[in-house]
Amino acid sequence: MTTRHAVIAGAGIGGLCAAVGLHRAGWRVTVLDRAPSPEPFGTCIALAPNALRALDGIGIGEKFREFGIAGGRGGIRSPDGRWLTRRDPGMINDYFGEPFVIARRGALARVLLEALPDSVLHNGIRVTGVYRNVVHTDRGEFSGDLVVGADGIHSAVRGTLFPWYGAPRPNGMIVWRFVLPAGGPRCSGSETWGAGRSFGIVPLAADATYCFASAPKPRGSWDPRTELAARFGSWHEPIPELIAAAGEDLLCHELLRLDPPPARFHHGTTVLLGDAAHAMLPNLGQGGCQAIEDAATLAALLSGNRPLTEALERYSALRVPRTRAIAANSARVSRIAGLRSPFAVAARNALVRASNRLPDSLVLRGMGAALDWWPPDQERASTRAR
Ligand SMILES: Cc1cc2nc3c(=O)[nH]c(=O)nc-3n(C[C@H](O)[C@H](O)[C@H](O)COP(=O)(O)OP(=O)(O)OC[C@H]3O[C@@H](n4cnc5c(N)ncnc54)[C@H](O)[C@@H]3O)c2cc1C
Repeated sequence: MTTRHAVIAGAGIGGLCAAVGLHRAGWRVTVLDRAPSPEPFGTCIALAPNALRALDGIGIGEKFREFGIAGGRGGIRSPDGRWLTRRDPGMINDYFGEPFVIARRGALARVLLEALPDSVLHNGIRVTGVYRNVVHTDRGEFSGDLVVGADGIHSAVRGTLFPWYGAPRPNGMIVWRFVLPAGGPRCSGSETWGAGRSFGIVPLAADATYCFASAPKPRGSWDPRTELAARFGSWHEPIPELIAAAGEDLLCHELLRLDPPPARFHHGTTVLLGDAAHAMLPNLGQGGCQAIEDAATLAALLSGNRPLTEALERYSALRVPRTRAIAANSARVSRIAGLRSPFAVAARNALVRASNRLPDSLVLRGMGAALDWWPPDQERASTRAR
């Protein structure tokens, strides 16, 4: 049998996971990325149990766990430091059999690249469109049996596959991200919710700390560092100290939203995955996790001799409803965290405080919709009695 060839547009988390999965499934793979080098954008990523199982599905879960640290946000606080709700992040591991694992994005990219032959990734090539099985780029044409559009929220592949689909739009919020090396203030994981603003703290391996924050976009011209201090400098300790210590790696950009995902993720033998298919707001921390699930699903369906068109039909049938539900849930949490009027904030905080009285099992069951997921080819190994 001749080796089938996949051309993948985009070497982000989704594209590289698809490359690893398809390579392991016996495909020849070519990955094209417009970036001049494989250095990933962004700081850290938290992967939930569902994504860890997806990484296991493509054979690199154990390697990734070596780099990461098990953790989580632990609870939600108000800007004066009081805990609105607090739970032991260890309960995730006890219930789902896996914790949240947080690592630098560079570590994940390295693990993925190490699992691929050197010849697979081609940087400095911008994809402009796809026509049948041919990927058009600023450096010529690449053809394959399968084309995978993993080129992120502004996807050129989505643009040619579904030209009527809307472009991403700003949702009115900006986000900051930065990492402090060891030696900064010691803190536990938490997320603090104010009126329309939030600040998250995540301890990393080797005593480093990952911070992220969001707030409405200011009018006129503004400076990211000054704005971060102005919005959060009076919040509880150690937030002002963390902000003062932020280094040159401070990232700040606008959040974008995409219409609900297209009704299917494939057309002919071209398929979308990750943010190209279903970019979502980051409030559930599931955007990257879903990209990895997409990749593991695609690789599982395309291993063996299943006809390509049948596999892609199945891929859309599995992935569209799941990612649509998770994107809608992320948008819901974003609206709740972003409430601004004092009355709405007081009511929200009272509800969050009241949720403390809910048993852990009920809270965990609610999280199961996103976290209790297994690749399609794996025996459902859950041993929990429900
Ligand atoms: C503040 C914030 C925090 C987040 N935190 C988390 C988290 O903790 N956990 C989580 O799971 N998710 C998180 N996410 C979401 C996550 O970052 C994304 O969902 C994920 O990166 C999507 O991966 P992707 O591979 O689909 O797209 P991308 O990471 O965007 O990769 C797309 C790739 O395609 C390339 N490309 C783009 N256009 C072209 C072109 N025309 N030609 C060639 N190459 C092209 C780009 O260079 C890039 O390498 C967060 C998002 C934000 C904004």
